[in-house]
Amino acid sequence: MPDSTSPCPAPAPASSCSSCDAWLGLPGMRVLDVTRDEDRLVVRVESVPDVAGCPVCGVVAHAHDRHEVTLVDAPSFGRPVRLVWVKRRYVCPEPACAGGTFVEQDDAVAAPRALLTTRAVEWAVRRLCREHASIAGLARQLGVDWNTVWRAVRARLEELAADPARFDGVTMLGVDEHVWHHVDQRQRGPKMLTGMVDLTRDEHGRVHARLLDLVPGRSGTVYGDWLTSRGEAFRSGVKVATLDPFRGYKNAVDEHLADATAVVDAFHVVKLATGCVDDVRRRVQQHTLGHRGRKGDPLYGIRTILCAGAENLTDRQRARLHKAFAAHEHHVEVQIAWQVAQDVRALFHTPNPAKGRAAARRLLKILPTCPIREVKRLGRTLNQWAEPLLAYFDTDGASNGGTEAINGLIELHRRIARGFRNRDNYRLRCLLIAGGLTP
Ligand SMILES: [Zn+2]
Repeated sequence: MPDSTSPCPAPAPASSCSSCDAWLGLPGMRVLDVTRDEDRLVVRVESVPDVAGCPVCGVVAHAHDRHEVTLVDAPSFGRPVRLVWVKRRYVCPEPACAGGTFVEQDDAVAAPRALLTTRAVEWAVRRLCREHASIAGLARQLGVDWNTVWRAVRARLEELAADPARFDGVTMLGVDEHVWHHVDQRQRGPKMLTGMVDLTRDEHGRVHARLLDLVPGRSGTVYGDWLTSRGEAFRSGVKVATLDPFRGYKNAVDEHLADATAVVDAFHVVKLATGCVDDVRRRVQQHTLGHRGRKGDPLYGIRTILCAGAENLTDRQRARLHKAFAAHEHHVEVQIAWQVAQDVRALFHTPNPAKGRAAARRLLKILPTCPIREVKRLGRTLNQWAEPLLAYFDTDGASNGGTEAINGLIELHRRIARGFRNRDNYRLRCLLIAGGLTP
């Protein structure tokens, strides 16, 4: 490593050092010298001489003079790096040409007027996506401010997001929504965002969930509009559409994805069933003790165990459950609702689809006849969703499960970024980390 005053041993520019040129990693460029400026590494480079044509008339141009451009490069040796590109300026020899002088340009090094080199942008995008870096952290490593990094990264992400090829080959499409902010809607628009997720299986039958887009609002209209803007080829390619039991999304699927099989998401069906147990527990609690559950009440003590799958319970938890069921004659209603929820849950764990479908049909038939009103209501709701519920067993268990992993990543990045104020930035960041953009 040369000290701060002496340049790289290679005398420049007549015979630059070929091994320096190799580690520079920029084809067609060679190193003039390397120095240190405070904590930064300053690498001066130039292009290997070549014939340049006038961009206006195409005549071979003459060398004119040099012009230095300082760029922010990816960090090296634990230090920020500045790449000083000693650009060649050419002049067109053709007297009739309006070309005049022009400066060489190479997008592989840096885009026109960019502050960061192309590879510094790729470096930042990759760190953001794979190492879950923060923009502030990247800015520190590059030795620039937050805005400089984000402006360069945003431009690249916008370019990737505009590529229509990222919507190719989607055969299974999921839809999900989440709350993206908790402030005044007049300032920041709708709190809910609808997310479209590619749940297409690979040749091994595995799902690699990819977030395709985020649009403001939660309604059949926003989903329908998004499907419309994707075009006919995309829509006819979708064979399976998974959704949570929300009428709006179902209407959009019926209207725009006529060829697709709608499948209601298993997670949300189980959630309806556990919600029903909760409702029964609360009502019976009020009825038997005359107050809301509190510490020491038998039903209050088992409120979380009631939501878990029976196969995951320990012997001790099981014993607590049955003790609470036996504590009062009215608790049998809670026990029945719990058993129903377990039966609903078991549907999605049946290894044989035919058996699963038969069990689902049985539940759909008997639940609406249950004397417990919450269970009866659950039965009616499930019957409204009977077709997309039974479709689960014909589609090899299509579910929105992959979106849960995506939601986890979004949650992580919301914390890393200390929240987002700008929805466009939020969308781009989410698309990147959730696999919607491939750098
Ligand atoms: Zn010219």
